[in-house]
Amino acid sequence: MTILVIADNDNASLRASTRSAVAAARTISGDVHVLVCGSGCQAAAEAAAACEGVSRVYLADVPQLAHQLPEAVAEAAAAALEKSGASHVFFVSSTTGKAAMPRLAGMLGKSALTDVCAVAAPDTFKRYIYAGGVLATVRTSAVPVIATIRPTAFAAVEPAGGTAAVEPLDVSFKSRAFAFVSEEAQLSDKPDLLTARRVVAGGRGLIDETGFAELEKLADKIGAAVGSTRAVVDMGLAPNETQVGQTGKIVAPELYFAFGISGAIQHVAGMKDSKVIVAVNKDPEAPIFEMCDYYLEADAVETIKQLEAKL
Ligand SMILES: Cc1cc2nc3c(=O)[nH]c(=O)nc-3n(C[C@H](O)[C@H](O)[C@H](O)COP(=O)(O)OP(=O)(O)OC[C@H]3O[C@@H](n4cnc5c(N)ncnc54)[C@H](O)[C@@H]3O)c2cc1C
Repeated sequence: MTILVIADNDNASLRASTRSAVAAARTISGDVHVLVCGSGCQAAAEAAAACEGVSRVYLADVPQLAHQLPEAVAEAAAAALEKSGASHVFFVSSTTGKAAMPRLAGMLGKSALTDVCAVAAPDTFKRYIYAGGVLATVRTSAVPVIATIRPTAFAAVEPAGGTAAVEPLDVSFKSRAFAFVSEEAQLSDKPDLLTARRVVAGGRGLIDETGFAELEKLADKIGAAVGSTRAVVDMGLAPNETQVGQTGKIVAPELYFAFGISGAIQHVAGMKDSKVIVAVNKDPEAPIFEMCDYYLEADAVETIKQLEAKL
């Protein structure tokens, strides 16, 4: 049984989430192939080949894949699937993976599974439904099994120890319905929310811009990424890309601070796998107090200021 993992990479390097998808694949089979696609992505392919448990790497390194458009990635995945004869194709639950996976499933006329959190058997998987409120066990009869993998649910394999061969992959891009036009990226020297070891997140309890400015200062002081709730994104207090939750990012840092966050199920769905959760809220009945490791009943902004002064 061969499992094909579609790497999550930014052309220059392999993201750690790929190693989590490899870990998920290894729970099914020892024969794990990885497709690295992009342009100028040889180093990412070599990083994939060095990963523990990877037996073969396909490299689709062409200008058409430079921007990782999901249509193009799906075509590359189809070519790698044909070459590998894989029984399973695993994408990372990233922006690209979530968009490319259904396109591959559509091309093949197959059903697909999203956001797999655990593998119970080669045809049986666990995934959260109802905003993370229920963990469903799902059996599929699809061949191949096509799925996205939630990276925070699987401990990544080691980045070293593998000696897989890297093979070039030919892709014929049949679809002409897509073209890259432009991209506007928010460049930041702050830790990436998805991979940060510490996250300080703020909700409506931070009240206004001043509260968020204090949160930013604390984040800088402890090298943390800033997270937020949808409520404050909707209010324009925090940028879209900081939203954690069902319709935001799924994170699992070592430390997650929730300042002035009520703990709505849709927010908790995005951070409940964090190793240590600390909540600060002035309401003793706040639902977040039910699921956190440490809590403080206090004013959020005042607590941030005091923490900052002590650090
Ligand atoms: C389909 C759908 C998808 C959604 N997706 C997401 C998502 O991805 N992410 C997300 O976050 N939300 C999401 N939501 C919204 C979610 O339901 C909640 O509305 C939101 O998470 C609440 O944000 P909040 O905790 O900042 O605000 P509130 O729920 O208003 O909570 C504010 C908290 O701050 C506390 N507080 C007030 N003042 C202070 C103070 N001075 N000091 C300390 N504490 C204070 C209050 O006691 C309260 O607990 C979604 C909703 C829907 C319907």
